[in-house]
Amino acid sequence: MVLECECGNRTGLFATGDRDEHGREFIELEDDDRFSYEIGGDSIVFRCAFCGYRYRLKQFSPFE
Ligand SMILES: [Zn+2]
Repeated sequence: MVLECECGNRTGLFATGDRDEHGREFIELEDDDRFSYEIGGDSIVFRCAFCGYRYRLKQFSPFE
């Protein structure tokens, strides 16, 4: 999985091999110098470290 900003900055997300109790595997950013992320109440915000642009991933409803 790849995360890419409009400015061309990109990094990958890799699977850690660890799973939670529902069998879902945890993922992490390959390079957190390129992007950082922040988890809010109902969304996750990814911030590009090159241009400062922020992307918001909204959580529409819980899975469970
Ligand atoms: Zn960018």
